[in-house]
Amino acid sequence: MAESGASSIRRLARRGKYVLSIHAGGEKNRDMKRRYHKCHFCGGEVSEQQVTVDYRWGEDLITVITEVPTGVCEACGEQYFKADVIKAMEKTARSKRKPHTVLQVPVRPLKVA
Ligand SMILES: [Zn+2]
Repeated sequence: MAESGASSIRRLARRGKYVLSIHAGGEKNRDMKRRYHKCHFCGGEVSEQQVTVDYRWGEDLITVITEVPTGVCEACGEQYFKADVIKAMEKTARSKRKPHTVLQVPVRPLKVA
């Protein structure tokens, strides 16, 4: 019996072929993910994920930046940023463009007995 279409698509996806054809001509960062060293703290594998970063200057939260390509340790969760990404975040934080969304959040000191 011939195998089903879904399972052959999954097999192609595992080999990377189907994924590459989906992203061809799309966002270039998707098919050219950055490479990361193993985690400095635990030696775990580090893979790239899109994360949300609270961008701070000292104690002050300057802006929240979404869709940041970040190396994340699969074992301990430590995050690693490449130099080009850090530069892009600095530029984004200084941007005078209208933000996508503006958040207003309550801030309260912790009272512990
Ligand atoms: Zn780690």
